[in-house]
Amino acid sequence: MKNFLTIFCFLLLAACKTSVVTPISTYPSSTSGLTNSPEIPNPNFGDIAAVFADNRSPTGAVIVYNPVICQRIGAACIFFKYHEHGHIALGHHVNSFVTPMIRERDADNYAAQNAPPETIVVAWNLFNNGGSSSNWHTYGSPRDRAKRLCLFAKQAGNWSGPDNC
Ligand SMILES: [Zn+2]
Repeated sequence: MKNFLTIFCFLLLAACKTSVVTPISTYPSSTSGLTNSPEIPNPNFGDIAAVFADNRSPTGAVIVYNPVICQRIGAACIFFKYHEHGHIALGHHVNSFVTPMIRERDADNYAAQNAPPETIVVAWNLFNNGGSSSNWHTYGSPRDRAKRLCLFAKQAGNWSGPDNC
């Protein structure tokens, strides 16, 4: 009986140890920058992600994202989700007097402060290679957006890419 108990305890400990070291997600990091807004996958959505007002959400908004595009761009998608949470945290869905250009700049700044650093570098690479919204008037050219993102992240002490950006 004593032996059985010893073995049982050993197995229990082993089980606990295993569950502690198992990573929960590839990008754990802080959840502090995430608003309490549902993220809704829609493979037919024509953009990476966007915010929509929705009274059923505790924040009054939901984030719709395209899981197919997300899979293609990898970790950059995490950056874009933080960008969308930024729009909501900054109240962009309830006040429309901030110009689109300022809104996008501030949401990028928010993501630069809150997204896991490795996802920022992946997004930075994507912009540097010309990947960004086609609406340059609002976002700036992809290269300008990359530069701006790097500077925001540096300012926040959240930059892990090359020194010279
Ligand atoms: Zn945006």
